[in-house]
Amino acid sequence: MKKHVEGHKELTNYNEIVRLTAPKMVYIPIFNFNSTSFELFVKEGDRVLVNTKLAVRNDNMTVPLFSPVSGTVKGIQKVMHGLLKPLDHFVIENDGLYEKTEAFAPLNWQEASRQELIDFMMNAGIVGCGGAGFPTYIKYKFAKNVDTVLINGVECEPYITADYRMIEENIADLITGTQAMLKAAEGKKAMIAVKETKKELLVKLKEATAGIPSIEIKAVPDMYPMGWERTLVYQVFKKRYNKLPGEVGVVVNNATTAIAFAQALKGQPIIEKMVTVSGDGVAKPANVLVPVGMKAADIVAQLGGYTSEEISCIAGGPMMGKTITNDQFVTTPYTNAITILKTRPLDTIECLRCGRCNDTCPAGLLPVRINNAEKAKNIDLIEKLNVNDCIECGLCTYVCPSKLDVTEGVRRAKRILALKK
Ligand code: SF4
Ligand code: SF4
Repeated sequence: MKKHVEGHKELTNYNEIVRLTAPKMVYIPIFNFNSTSFELFVKEGDRVLVNTKLAVRNDNMTVPLFSPVSGTVKGIQKVMHGLLKPLDHFVIENDGLYEKTEAFAPLNWQEASRQELIDFMMNAGIVGCGGAGFPTYIKYKFAKNVDTVLINGVECEPYITADYRMIEENIADLITGTQAMLKAAEGKKAMIAVKETKKELLVKLKEATAGIPSIEIKAVPDMYPMGWERTLVYQVFKKRYNKLPGEVGVVVNNATTAIAFAQALKGQPIIEKMVTVSGDGVAKPANVLVPVGMKAADIVAQLGGYTSEEISCIAGGPMMGKTITNDQFVTTPYTNAITILKTRPLDTIECLRCGRCNDTCPAGLLPVRINNAEKAKNIDLIEKLNVNDCIECGLCTYVCPSKLDVTEGVRRAKRILALKK
């Protein structure tokens, strides 16, 4: 079931994009999508330039990391990551000179073969910019019988407007990235999905793609969680899949990822990110362009600081993001938001057994039963209740009249199951 959720997008939708000054120290997580297995190319004391390749993931996937600044590597330090785990980060002292090197040679996508495009995605470090940072080339490497490349520009989570502003500012790159992805997938057509309420943007996109018959612009309802891959694929194609959208002939990528791919084709790795910093806990909510590796605390300081002593700092949006105990986590290529909310005491009461959480769950789960199984530490029942299908959309907490953090209970159940395996 999809739901109308208060958007709060007016806080940043129309504001000017603010380019923040890179701080003295940047921290690059030596991490990609559940992996900390990396070959390191720099060590303490080395001088690096903007775009220097710092490391590459070297297990079953290849993902390079690039420096966003020039300066000196000060070492490796454990820092709390936005995923709520302490991880090793390169510490780089920014010398403020921004001397550059070439990260990789640009590529003409029209002349490149499918394999060259996929290899390029891999070596350029293109990852899913709107979510968990999954390496994009993997989707294309295994893509077979693709009918449609679906570019997700829906961005349904409250407060977040970074993708929307990225699309507005980079329409030409979005189209190039989409065309190049279509070629990499050997698909029949591409579709760019945007919310039907973004009327001006829809007009601009239709105008810009008027002479490109392989790209269709698709308006979809403004509901939460329409941006979730499964919901969007069902909305557009009326098809359901078991594990991956490839089962129904679709490859899905976030719009900002398509833009990042187009920019990489010009030689630009993802060393800078548009991030929505919003909520009633920050003095000047804004969409900011920041280097990868900038601490949330440094970002908020440049936006006038906090509005209250009691705040919750969320890495991501309020529904799917993770509330962090401090503001020391850094931006990554896949950070799309930092939400800062004033803490309000919650008058929680006992579960009313109203069933709203069950009725609302877009993954078809029974969140209240999962919470009860988690409290009872009944691992067999947790497993039977398919807890790993939870996308952590936050809706079960949002609708709960008892103000219970039902989502957090489901997260705990997931962790219990993960520990058992
Ligand atoms: S957070 Fe998980 S359990 Fe709760 S509504 Fe969303 S998908 Fe369902
Ligand atoms: S929505 Fe809240 S009160 Fe209702 S059944 Fe779920 S946990 Fe209980």
